[in-house]
Amino acid sequence: MTSATRRQSVAVPNPLHAPLTGWGRYPLSESDIYRPDKIAELQGVVTANISSLIPRGAGRAYGDAALNDQNRVVDLTRLNRMLSFDAASGLLRCEAGVTIAELIDVFLPRGFFPPVTPGTRFVTLGGSVAADVHGKNHHRDSSLASHVMYFDLMIASGEVLRCSREENSDLFWATVGGMGLTGVILELELRMRRVESAYLDGELIRAGNIDAAIEAFERIDSVYGYSVAWIDCNSTKSALGRSLLNVGNFATLDQLPRNLAQDPLTTMPKLSPFVPLDLPVVNSMTVRAFNALTYALHREKSAHTFFDWESFFYPLDAIRNWPRIYGKRGFVQYQCVWPPDESRAGLVEVLEATTRSRRASFLAVLKKFGAQDGLLSFPMAGYTLAIDFPVTDGLLEFLDSLDALVLKRGGRVYLAKDARMSPETFRAMYPNFRKWQAAKAVADPDNRFSSSLSRRLGMDPA
Ligand SMILES: Cc1cc2nc3c(=O)[nH]c(=O)nc-3n(C[C@H](O)[C@H](O)[C@H](O)COP(=O)(O)OP(=O)(O)OC[C@H]3O[C@@H](n4cnc5c(N)ncnc54)[C@H](O)[C@@H]3O)c2cc1C
Repeated sequence: MTSATRRQSVAVPNPLHAPLTGWGRYPLSESDIYRPDKIAELQGVVTANISSLIPRGAGRAYGDAALNDQNRVVDLTRLNRMLSFDAASGLLRCEAGVTIAELIDVFLPRGFFPPVTPGTRFVTLGGSVAADVHGKNHHRDSSLASHVMYFDLMIASGEVLRCSREENSDLFWATVGGMGLTGVILELELRMRRVESAYLDGELIRAGNIDAAIEAFERIDSVYGYSVAWIDCNSTKSALGRSLLNVGNFATLDQLPRNLAQDPLTTMPKLSPFVPLDLPVVNSMTVRAFNALTYALHREKSAHTFFDWESFFYPLDAIRNWPRIYGKRGFVQYQCVWPPDESRAGLVEVLEATTRSRRASFLAVLKKFGAQDGLLSFPMAGYTLAIDFPVTDGLLEFLDSLDALVLKRGGRVYLAKDARMSPETFRAMYPNFRKWQAAKAVADPDNRFSSSLSRRLGMDPA
């Protein structure tokens, strides 16, 4: 299917006019939301010349990437069929509304795992390609795009184009990380990873400060395929950046203890509690207490352990709708990255500013990135830090000051988490923006695909 699909005349489904936010519940928008369950219906929505349009997956982008205030949003979650799977190669074809959780449900019992996964499994593959997501294995396996063979993209004219490294390659590279602004990803082919068990054979490593954390990441770099650190954003002075690293590789059968080896691809289902109401419990006192306790509970410098896949990859999925702990005003996740030579200094500057501000939350994560392709993909080789900040007075000005620190060291901020960056900062952080804009203009000459994020960042043509 390399050419245009035949246009069918179908009624455009009625939209639901409703308020909408990203995962951080900031900002709030209002849109006409379409939820087609057939490609032909989607084509009707895309080609109806009413107002601008943005695709939306599971709505796990934190800020305004999947919002289109006072315009149209098309929810792709009903286009979620798995189409074919070849166990010999691990190649899976499926529609873009399939979630990573669904992939794990179906394929982990057969010995396959997604090649890259973000810190939540409740994301669609379309949304994951559009953000070109990274996982805890970026230092070894790069971002999701590296494992995607091709995708089919419905562009503004309603045509469907196959995009790969060989075919429509400009559009391929503009769409991965392109935040839904080049068209709608309909289906894709992905190479799944073969695994022998649902467990990771790894270590919990305690690092007393940021230098010890970096030293630990460098030491385990060639040993473990997956690594991540929880970082205490309230520690200061010689303990600045103290961290707990979780590192591991999928365990092979012969590495598993006998009790786990009996049924290696099955783990115990977990309870899934939820936060019943908006309960703003995040403040500098609760955060301090939580961080001190978490660190104190892990006394040993390093402990060998087996993690089940759910605890290792998705600790945040354990509590549904956890953003409610930030109350109605919501929160912003600030995720930035620096090149290798600037990472240590950049980390110290941002951690010091954050500690001083007393604004940070429980959640702060440090990871190491490796090589990366793509025009607007966020990762670059170096270290990345992600911190949640509750929306409070003065937060936006404070985050602007972090932008200046990140920018001066050649770093950038992740669009899938952003809700507030300025157009000037965006352009300085994403030097391939002009190339991206040229590729978008070919697929979407009238700029039909637009979002709250693209307007805020000045990505739409003037
Ligand atoms: C708890 C948590 C942890 C996270 N951890 C990580 C992490 O470790 N690494 C990481 O990289 N990200 C992470 N994220 C961010 C998340 O992976 C991305 O925002 C991802 O894009 C969300 O996918 P979604 O299906 O929810 O898409 P949405 O949030 O609905 O949309 C995200 C973007 O994708 C576009 N889009 C959606 N579907 C399509 C489609 N079919 N065709 C074209 N464009 C489309 C939208 O227009 C939008 O720009 C995390 C998010 C949460 C909530």
